[in-house]
Amino acid sequence: MIVDSHVHAGEYYRHFTSAFAAEMMATTGKPADALGTPEHELLAQMDAAGVDHAFLLAFDVQRVEGFKVPNEFVADMCRRHPGRFTGFASVDAGTAGAAAELRRAVEELGLRGLKTAPCYLRMSPADRRWYDVYETAQELGIPVLVHTGYTPAKKADPRYFPPQLLDPVARDFPGLRLVLAHLGTPWTDAALDLLARHPLVHADLSIFSWYRPVPTVTAALAQARRLGVMDRLLWGTDHPFCTMTDSVERMRSLTSDPGQWPDGVPLSEAEHASLMGGAAAQLLQSADRVHG
Ligand SMILES: [Zn+2]
Repeated sequence: MIVDSHVHAGEYYRHFTSAFAAEMMATTGKPADALGTPEHELLAQMDAAGVDHAFLLAFDVQRVEGFKVPNEFVADMCRRHPGRFTGFASVDAGTAGAAAELRRAVEELGLRGLKTAPCYLRMSPADRRWYDVYETAQELGIPVLVHTGYTPAKKADPRYFPPQLLDPVARDFPGLRLVLAHLGTPWTDAALDLLARHPLVHADLSIFSWYRPVPTVTAALAQARRLGVMDRLLWGTDHPFCTMTDSVERMRSLTSDPGQWPDGVPLSEAEHASLMGGAAAQLLQSADRVHG
């Protein structure tokens, strides 16, 4: 089972501003309107890449960027395609009622995770305004996927890029399943250290596993293996910023060429299966257990 743990929902003419789309797509070689993917096209891309399931993300940056991909939109897509998506809500702790909106998205809309974008919202992920959101997520037993690392968005605040900022959050919410998006690229060592320090902290490999040179990717995975945290890494694409078929192929290639690895040991089949979906399924199962 292949699970893409980081897929953005949204339609270009309906959700995003053209300025944001231009900034985000500039380095991908794709046109700005590729930021939005029609539903049938996304499913076709998943099928072509052999992706069975995806974490589908809402995106609330209304206060700073003037747009959002609403929780309802993601919930509707999940309903139309049962089994294909797990919907992640998005809320902004800088606006009133964020925790209540998260609870509504989970209990009424059926979403089963939270995506946050602290640096886009010009807030630290450790800002106290997030704490009742984290508290609610912990109580609901849902994973929280936090953007960490670089973004080309011009309004984002680089002070809030580094993954280390999540350390106090992991300490204050020991029952919360955090996922550091993009392995905190370029601060990947710091992200892995956070996984080593906190047993419920995870990370996704979106963007990192495709855009960084293969030796950089294998060095990080070898380090994850040394730290014993490989089983908390989740493959993902950050669709539409990276093509699913390309990224799946690159991950497959990591199982076969020892020369690309610092220790000469390529990914085992078991490690590959965990990265490509096993760890993601595990994350959702633990959420289900809390939910009862
Ligand atoms: Zn993303």
